[in-house]
Amino acid sequence: MPDTVFTPFDDDLRLLDEVSRAASAPDFLRLAIRGAYRGRIALVSSFGTEAAVLLHMVAGIDRNTPVIFLDTLKLFPETLRYRDALVDRLGLRDVRTIAPDAAAIAAEDGDGLLWRRDPDRCCALRKVVPLERALDGFEAWINGRKRSHGAARSHLPLVEVESGRLKLNPLALWSADDVEGYFIANDLPRHPLEADGFSSIGCMPCSAPTASGEGRRAGRWRGLDKTECGIHGASFPAVRGEA
Ligand code: SF4
Repeated sequence: MPDTVFTPFDDDLRLLDEVSRAASAPDFLRLAIRGAYRGRIALVSSFGTEAAVLLHMVAGIDRNTPVIFLDTLKLFPETLRYRDALVDRLGLRDVRTIAPDAAAIAAEDGDGLLWRRDPDRCCALRKVVPLERALDGFEAWINGRKRSHGAARSHLPLVEVESGRLKLNPLALWSADDVEGYFIANDLPRHPLEADGFSSIGCMPCSAPTASGEGRRAGRWRGLDKTECGIHGASFPAVRGEA
Protein backbone atom coordinates (compact mmCIF):
# COMPACT_ATOMS: atom_id res chain seq x y z
CA MET A 1 0.00 0.00 0.00
CA PRO A 2 1.68 3.26 -1.05
CA ASP A 3 1.79 5.81 1.75
CA THR A 4 0.84 8.60 -0.58
CA VAL A 5 -0.56 12.00 0.36
CA PHE A 6 -2.41 13.85 -2.41
CA THR A 7 -2.46 17.33 -0.97
CA PRO A 8 -4.06 19.26 -3.88
CA PHE A 9 -7.28 17.27 -3.69
CA ASP A 10 -7.36 16.03 -0.13
CA ASP A 11 -10.61 17.66 0.96
CA ASP A 12 -12.43 16.76 -2.27
CA LEU A 13 -11.11 13.23 -2.18
CA ARG A 14 -12.16 12.56 1.38
CA LEU A 15 -15.61 13.93 0.65
CA LEU A 16 -15.98 11.91 -2.53
CA ASP A 17 -14.71 8.78 -0.86
CA GLU A 18 -17.17 9.12 2.01
CA VAL A 19 -20.07 9.93 -0.30
CA SER A 20 -19.19 7.11 -2.64
CA ARG A 21 -19.64 4.61 0.18
CA ALA A 22 -22.91 6.03 1.41
CA ALA A 23 -24.57 7.12 -1.81
CA SER A 24 -25.96 5.28 -4.80
CA ALA A 25 -23.86 5.33 -7.95
CA PRO A 26 -26.09 7.99 -9.60
CA ASP A 27 -25.88 10.24 -6.52
CA PHE A 28 -22.12 9.82 -6.40
CA LEU A 29 -21.91 10.75 -10.08
CA ARG A 30 -24.20 13.74 -9.57
CA LEU A 31 -21.95 15.08 -6.85
CA ALA A 32 -18.91 14.80 -9.10
CA ILE A 33 -20.50 16.07 -12.33
CA ARG A 34 -22.61 18.88 -10.94
CA GLY A 35 -20.51 19.71 -7.91
CA ALA A 36 -16.90 19.02 -7.12
CA TYR A 37 -15.67 18.58 -10.71
CA ARG A 38 -18.25 20.49 -12.71
CA GLY A 39 -16.92 21.19 -16.21
CA ARG A 40 -13.67 19.34 -15.49
CA ILE A 41 -14.80 15.73 -15.66
CA ALA A 42 -15.35 13.25 -18.51
CA LEU A 43 -16.76 9.75 -18.87
CA VAL A 44 -14.53 7.31 -20.74
CA SER A 45 -16.64 4.62 -22.38
CA SER A 46 -15.88 1.61 -24.55
CA PHE A 47 -19.53 1.28 -25.56
CA GLY A 48 -19.11 -2.38 -24.64
CA THR A 49 -21.57 -4.80 -23.07
CA GLU A 50 -21.99 -2.97 -19.73
CA ALA A 51 -21.33 0.58 -20.89
CA ALA A 52 -24.97 1.61 -21.22
CA VAL A 53 -25.32 1.72 -17.42
CA LEU A 54 -22.92 4.62 -16.86
CA LEU A 55 -23.91 6.32 -20.10
CA HIS A 56 -27.54 6.25 -18.96
CA MET A 57 -26.68 7.59 -15.50
CA VAL A 58 -24.50 10.38 -16.88
CA ALA A 59 -27.10 11.35 -19.47
CA GLY A 60 -29.65 11.61 -16.67
CA ILE A 61 -27.43 14.07 -14.82
CA ASP A 62 -26.11 16.21 -17.68
CA ARG A 63 -26.27 15.25 -21.37
CA ASN A 64 -23.47 17.74 -22.08
CA THR A 65 -20.95 15.77 -20.04
CA PRO A 66 -17.99 14.93 -22.30
CA VAL A 67 -17.88 11.23 -23.22
CA ILE A 68 -14.56 9.98 -24.58
CA PHE A 69 -14.65 6.97 -26.88
CA LEU A 70 -11.36 5.49 -28.07
CA ASP A 71 -11.71 4.23 -31.62
CA THR A 72 -8.60 2.10 -31.95
CA LEU A 73 -9.44 1.46 -35.62
CA LYS A 74 -9.57 -2.22 -34.64
CA LEU A 75 -13.09 -2.22 -33.25
CA PHE A 76 -16.02 -4.32 -34.32
CA PRO A 77 -18.42 -2.48 -36.65
CA GLU A 78 -21.16 -3.61 -34.28
CA THR A 79 -19.57 -1.49 -31.53
CA LEU A 80 -19.61 1.62 -33.74
CA ARG A 81 -23.26 1.05 -34.60
CA TYR A 82 -24.09 0.44 -30.93
CA ARG A 83 -22.34 3.70 -30.02
CA ASP A 84 -24.42 5.61 -32.53
CA ALA A 85 -27.65 3.98 -31.36
CA LEU A 86 -26.93 4.65 -27.67
CA VAL A 87 -25.88 8.25 -28.27
CA ASP A 88 -29.12 8.80 -30.15
CA ARG A 89 -31.26 7.04 -27.55
CA LEU A 90 -29.69 8.81 -24.56
CA GLY A 91 -29.33 12.23 -26.19
CA LEU A 92 -25.66 12.57 -25.35
CA ARG A 93 -24.37 15.84 -26.83
CA ASP A 94 -20.60 15.70 -26.41
CA VAL A 95 -19.29 12.30 -27.47
CA ARG A 96 -15.68 12.62 -28.57
CA THR A 97 -14.38 9.80 -30.75
CA ILE A 98 -10.61 9.70 -30.39
CA ALA A 99 -8.42 7.93 -32.97
CA PRO A 100 -4.74 7.01 -32.67
CA ASP A 101 -2.13 9.21 -34.25
CA ALA A 102 -1.94 8.29 -37.95
CA ALA A 103 1.80 8.94 -38.23
CA ALA A 104 2.56 6.77 -35.21
CA ILE A 105 0.44 3.94 -36.61
CA ALA A 106 2.14 4.23 -40.00
CA ALA A 107 5.56 4.16 -38.38
CA GLU A 108 5.00 1.27 -35.98
CA ASP A 109 2.02 -0.69 -37.25
CA GLY A 110 2.02 -0.32 -41.01
CA ASP A 111 0.79 -3.86 -41.55
CA GLY A 112 -1.82 -3.64 -38.80
CA LEU A 113 -0.42 -6.71 -37.05
CA LEU A 114 1.36 -5.10 -34.10
CA TRP A 115 -1.35 -6.59 -31.85
CA ARG A 116 0.13 -10.01 -32.69
CA ARG A 117 3.82 -9.06 -32.36
CA ASP A 118 3.59 -6.78 -29.34
CA PRO A 119 0.10 -6.27 -27.92
CA ASP A 120 1.31 -4.02 -25.11
CA ARG A 121 2.87 -1.65 -27.63
CA CYS A 122 -0.24 -1.86 -29.80
CA CYS A 123 -2.43 -0.89 -26.82
CA ALA A 124 -0.04 1.95 -25.99
CA LEU A 125 -0.30 3.35 -29.54
CA ARG A 126 -4.00 2.84 -30.00
CA LYS A 127 -5.35 3.40 -26.48
CA VAL A 128 -3.00 4.72 -23.81
CA VAL A 129 -1.44 7.65 -25.69
CA PRO A 130 -4.71 8.77 -27.35
CA LEU A 131 -6.53 8.68 -24.00
CA GLU A 132 -3.88 10.74 -22.28
CA ARG A 133 -4.23 13.28 -25.08
CA ALA A 134 -8.03 13.26 -24.82
CA LEU A 135 -7.95 13.75 -21.05
CA ASP A 136 -5.71 16.80 -21.27
CA GLY A 137 -7.50 19.61 -19.45
CA PHE A 138 -9.73 17.33 -17.37
CA GLU A 139 -9.15 16.93 -13.66
CA ALA A 140 -11.25 13.81 -13.23
CA TRP A 141 -12.67 10.94 -15.25
CA ILE A 142 -15.23 8.23 -14.79
CA ASN A 143 -14.93 4.63 -15.89
CA GLY A 144 -16.91 1.43 -15.52
CA ARG A 145 -14.49 -1.08 -14.01
CA LYS A 146 -15.90 -3.39 -11.36
CA ARG A 147 -14.47 -5.72 -8.73
CA SER A 148 -16.69 -8.44 -10.16
CA HIS A 149 -14.50 -8.44 -13.29
CA GLY A 150 -11.89 -10.22 -11.19
CA ALA A 151 -8.09 -10.38 -11.62
CA ALA A 152 -6.43 -6.97 -11.16
CA ARG A 153 -9.83 -5.39 -10.53
CA SER A 154 -10.73 -7.54 -7.53
CA HIS A 155 -9.80 -4.86 -4.99
CA LEU A 156 -10.74 -1.81 -6.99
CA PRO A 157 -11.42 1.28 -4.84
CA LEU A 158 -14.24 3.69 -5.64
CA VAL A 159 -11.89 6.63 -6.01
CA GLU A 160 -8.30 6.65 -7.27
CA VAL A 161 -5.65 9.12 -8.32
CA GLU A 162 -3.61 8.51 -11.45
CA SER A 163 -1.18 10.88 -13.12
CA GLY A 164 -2.42 13.67 -10.88
CA ARG A 165 -5.99 13.17 -12.06
CA LEU A 166 -8.95 11.81 -10.11
CA LYS A 167 -10.43 8.55 -11.39
CA LEU A 168 -13.91 7.56 -10.28
CA ASN A 169 -15.14 3.97 -10.34
CA PRO A 170 -18.78 4.41 -9.31
CA LEU A 171 -19.72 0.83 -10.21
CA ALA A 172 -16.72 -0.77 -8.50
CA LEU A 173 -18.93 -2.68 -6.08
CA TRP A 174 -21.61 -3.67 -8.61
CA SER A 175 -22.20 -7.34 -9.36
CA ALA A 176 -23.21 -8.81 -12.70
CA ASP A 177 -26.74 -9.07 -11.30
CA ASP A 178 -26.74 -5.36 -10.45
CA VAL A 179 -25.79 -4.56 -14.04
CA GLU A 180 -28.43 -6.89 -15.42
CA GLY A 181 -31.06 -5.39 -13.15
CA TYR A 182 -30.21 -1.88 -14.30
CA PHE A 183 -30.46 -2.87 -17.96
CA ILE A 184 -33.89 -4.38 -17.36
CA ALA A 185 -35.20 -1.58 -15.16
CA ASN A 186 -34.24 1.04 -17.73
CA ASP A 187 -34.96 -1.00 -20.85
CA LEU A 188 -31.46 -0.37 -22.19
CA PRO A 189 -30.39 -1.85 -25.54
CA ARG A 190 -27.76 -4.61 -25.55
CA HIS A 191 -24.52 -4.67 -27.48
CA PRO A 192 -25.36 -6.84 -30.51
CA LEU A 193 -22.37 -9.17 -29.96
CA GLU A 194 -23.58 -10.15 -26.50
CA ALA A 195 -25.99 -12.57 -28.15
CA ASP A 196 -22.98 -14.22 -29.82
CA GLY A 197 -21.32 -14.99 -26.48
CA PHE A 198 -19.12 -11.91 -26.09
CA SER A 199 -19.30 -10.82 -22.45
CA SER A 200 -16.53 -8.23 -22.75
CA ILE A 201 -15.79 -6.46 -26.01
CA GLY A 202 -12.75 -4.49 -27.10
CA CYS A 203 -10.78 -4.74 -30.34
CA MET A 204 -11.60 -7.44 -32.88
CA PRO A 205 -8.27 -9.32 -32.75
CA CYS A 206 -8.22 -9.37 -28.95
CA SER A 207 -11.83 -10.20 -28.03
CA ALA A 208 -13.38 -13.65 -28.11
CA PRO A 209 -16.62 -15.17 -26.84
CA THR A 210 -16.62 -16.69 -23.38
CA ALA A 211 -17.99 -20.06 -22.36
CA SER A 212 -20.37 -20.68 -19.50
CA GLY A 213 -18.49 -20.54 -16.19
CA GLU A 214 -15.62 -18.41 -17.50
CA GLY A 215 -14.88 -14.96 -16.08
CA ARG A 216 -16.46 -12.00 -17.81
CA ARG A 217 -13.15 -10.89 -19.32
CA ALA A 218 -11.75 -14.34 -20.12
CA GLY A 219 -12.12 -13.68 -23.84
CA ARG A 220 -9.88 -10.63 -23.78
CA TRP A 221 -6.37 -11.38 -25.08
CA ARG A 222 -7.22 -15.05 -24.82
CA GLY A 223 -4.13 -17.21 -24.51
CA LEU A 224 -1.89 -14.33 -23.50
CA ASP A 225 -0.61 -13.29 -20.10
CA LYS A 226 -2.35 -9.95 -20.50
CA THR A 227 -5.56 -8.84 -18.83
CA GLU A 228 -5.52 -5.04 -19.17
CA CYS A 229 -4.82 -2.67 -22.03
CA GLY A 230 -2.73 -0.27 -19.98
CA ILE A 231 -5.04 2.72 -19.70
CA HIS A 232 -5.53 1.76 -16.07
CA GLY A 233 -1.94 2.05 -15.03
CA ALA A 234 -0.21 2.85 -11.82
CA SER A 235 -3.12 4.31 -9.93
CA PHE A 236 -3.38 4.58 -6.17
CA PRO A 237 -6.33 4.51 -3.82
CA ALA A 238 -7.23 8.11 -3.17
CA VAL A 239 -7.57 7.72 0.56
CA ARG A 240 -4.90 6.05 2.63
CA GLY A 241 -5.96 2.79 4.15
CA GLU A 242 -8.31 1.92 1.29
CA ALA A 243 -7.77 -1.46 -0.37
FE1 SF4 B 1 -4.11 -3.57 -30.25
FE2 SF4 B 1 -5.49 -5.64 -29.26
FE3 SF4 B 1 -4.74 -3.58 -27.69
FE4 SF4 B 1 -6.67 -3.29 -29.54
S1 SF4 B 1 -6.74 -4.59 -27.67
S2 SF4 B 1 -5.04 -1.88 -29.12
S3 SF4 B 1 -5.85 -4.58 -31.22
S4 SF4 B 1 -3.40 -5.10 -28.71
